[in-house]
Amino acid sequence: MSHFFHLDGVLHADSVALPAIAAQFGTPTYVYSKTALLENFASFADACEGRDALVCYAMKANSNLAILDLLAQRGAGFDIVSGGELLRVLAAGGDPRKVIFSGVGKSKAEMRLALTHDILCFNVESIPELHRLNEVAGSMGLTARVSLRVNPNVDAKTHPYIATGLKANKFGVAFDDALEAYRNADDLPHLEPVGIDCHIGSQLLDDAPLLEALDKLIELVDALAAENIVLHHLDMGGGIGIRYGEDGETEPVPVADYLGRVFARVDQWRAEKYAGAPIKVIFEPGRAIVGDTGVLLTRVEYTKPGAEKNFCIVDAAMNDLMRPALYEAWMDVREVAPHDGPAMLYDVVGPVCESGDWLARERALTVKQGDLLAIMQAGAYGLTMSSNYNTRGRAAEVIVDGSELHLVRERENPADLFALESLIK
Ligand SMILES: *Cc1c(COP(=O)(O)O)cnc(C)c1O
Repeated sequence: MSHFFHLDGVLHADSVALPAIAAQFGTPTYVYSKTALLENFASFADACEGRDALVCYAMKANSNLAILDLLAQRGAGFDIVSGGELLRVLAAGGDPRKVIFSGVGKSKAEMRLALTHDILCFNVESIPELHRLNEVAGSMGLTARVSLRVNPNVDAKTHPYIATGLKANKFGVAFDDALEAYRNADDLPHLEPVGIDCHIGSQLLDDAPLLEALDKLIELVDALAAENIVLHHLDMGGGIGIRYGEDGETEPVPVADYLGRVFARVDQWRAEKYAGAPIKVIFEPGRAIVGDTGVLLTRVEYTKPGAEKNFCIVDAAMNDLMRPALYEAWMDVREVAPHDGPAMLYDVVGPVCESGDWLARERALTVKQGDLLAIMQAGAYGLTMSSNYNTRGRAAEVIVDGSELHLVRERENPADLFALESLIK
C-alpha cells in the first residue's frame, strides 16, 4: 500500500498534507513515512520468521540515524561499506554483532574499528584484502570472521552502473578463483572463513539471476566442505528492485516470493547433502527497504517556456538527488496540488550550473511558480548520495509517523559548509 496519496486534491504522506511540511521545514525536504519503512522491513522479517536468517539493511541506501534506529529496534542487522557507516550504526544503537562489512577498499583503520566492535563478518573482495585483514587482526591479537564476496558472473540485467556481478566489474573474487582464495583464507592464522556472499546488482526486477547466483554459491560451499572448509552462512546480497511508476515498467518480484524461493532451494540442498543441517541465510536489501518510503519535496522557482523545451526550475537539484544525472534514472514527479486546466510538457531541472542537472524529462504538468512538486520513490540513494556542489546545503529530512512530524536531519546551513576551510596566512 502506498503511503503517499492525494486526498482532497492535496498530496499527503500518511495523515500529513505535504504543504504543511513545506511550510514548517522549507524545501527541498526529504519526507519519509515511518509506517511504509516498517512495512517494507516486515516483508523481509516475516518471510524469515522461524528460520536462521538475518536481514542486514544496506544502509548506504539511506543512513539517517532515525531510520537505522527504527530498523535496529526490529532486529535488523546492517550491511556497511565504510567505517563511517559503522559509527552510524553505533550512534543509532544498532548491534555491531549483526554488522557485515562490504566494499572493495577497506582501509587498515576501518578494519581496526570493525574488529574492535567485533562485527559479525567481513565480506572480503580480494586476495590482498585477505592478507591485510589477517595482518591487522593479528596485530590486535584477534581473529577476523570472513566471507568472500564471490563474483558469480551472472548478468543481473540492470543498468550497467548498478550491475556488479559480471567479470568486468571491480567487485568480488572471480568464481574460478574463489576456491583458491578460500584455501588462502583458511591458511591465514588470523582469519576464520565463516561464510560466502555475492551481490550481483541493484534494482533487479526478476529473481532468476539471483537464484542462478545462489546455485553458484551452493556449488562452492559443497566444494569447500569437501576440503573441510565448512561455511556457516550464505549471504545473497541485496538488489531487489522497486516500482518507480514509469509507464510499462516491469513489476518487481514480490519480496516474499523471492525469499520463499531462496529458502526452498536452500532447504532442498541441505536435505540432500547435509542431512538437513541448516545454514544461516543473510540478505542485504537497501532499496527494497527504503526506496518507496520517501519523497523529495521541492518548490517551483520559475517556469521557463522555450522554443524546443519548457523548463520547470525547482529548488531541488542534482546535488540533492543524483540518480537521474548519474544513471539517467526515471523518477516519478507529482504535483502536490494539481491545477485544473491544460498541462504542458516540462523538463524538471534544478538551479545547479550543469546541463546534467535534471530530475525528470518531458513531464505533463500544470505547474505555476511557487507550486510544490514531489519527486516520488526517493527514499533510497537520495540524501545519502547528495553533495554540497554549488555550496548548496543538504536538504532537511522529516519522518511522518501517522499525523506526527519529526525533523530527523536539519537543513544544512551554508556557513557550516565552509567552516572546515581556512585561508593561507
Ligand atoms: C548497495 C549494496 C547492497 C544493497 O543494494 P540494493 O540494490 O539497494 O538492495 C547490498 N549489498 C552490497 C554489498 C551493496 O554494495
